Amino acid sequence: MNSATTTSSTAPASGHQRSSTDRRGILFIISAPSGTGKTTLCKQLAANLPGLWHSISYTTRKPRPGEEQGRDYYFVEEQTFQEMVARNDFVEWAHVYGHLYGTPWKSLTEKIDQGIDVLLEIDVQGAMQIKKRFEDSVSIFILPPSMTVLKSRLQIRASDTPEEIQRRLHKVKEEVWSYREYAYIVRNEDLALSLRDLESIFWSERLKTKRLNMTWLESNFILDDEQKTGDHKDLP
Ligand code: ADP
Ligand code: 5GP
Repeated sequence: MNSATTTSSTAPASGHQRSSTDRRGILFIISAPSGTGKTTLCKQLAANLPGLWHSISYTTRKPRPGEEQGRDYYFVEEQTFQEMVARNDFVEWAHVYGHLYGTPWKSLTEKIDQGIDVLLEIDVQGAMQIKKRFEDSVSIFILPPSMTVLKSRLQIRASDTPEEIQRRLHKVKEEVWSYREYAYIVRNEDLALSLRDLESIFWSERLKTKRLNMTWLESNFILDDEQKTGDHKDLP
């Protein structure tokens, strides 16, 4: 089922100006302790960067004020979620803060096949599962400047009870050690600077030599006209 680790595709991506460097979509994974600002940053990234799609997870948690079905999450009952698990509908799923969260296979592989980059905003357990399945994925860990700032962000967000905030803060001490598993670390102090850092990572990853479309290279610089139309088994 892991079709995302194979070679380049030339299918057009909707809403994104494709260039001669057409390639498969890249899977970006972002994790952070709750309250760090990852949802805020991921929404802005998806709005700013062409060719980037923010994956929508399924969850059994109830919507927060302002959250919308199908935009922020697919909010489902536990039975529906378990049926999806049984059908193998999820690339990965996890228990997080007492609720179930899962990343659906279908939309993710469709986007990657179309050459659209995918942004996954998931917890550390989910990130580790994805990294094993998609070896070419790019993992980014975002940290708050300090525990004091994190606590105040959770309080200002005012979406969780004081007990829930305590639970999330307590978990940070475990989560923070996962930084070693991620390829990049971004410290979210100033929102605009963090966004700039994240955008730099995305653009650089897109330009990596290993992502170069060999068909484009061959047809422009290696094959002569006869070889383009015929057999070119002798190429290096
Ligand atoms: P997460 O998705 O990591 O749980 P959110 O994106 O919901 O976090 O952000 C938590 C709160 O912190 C929100 O109220 C958000 O507006 C605020 N926030 C995010 N980044 C910053 C920042 N760099 N400076 C100040 N406040 C921030
Ligand atoms: P929240 O309830 O604050 O939206 O999210 C709680 C945590 O669940 C966050 O760390 C978020 O990244 C994580 N999460 C959201 N969707 C998924 C998912 O599909 N899989 C996993 N493993 N974690 C998720």
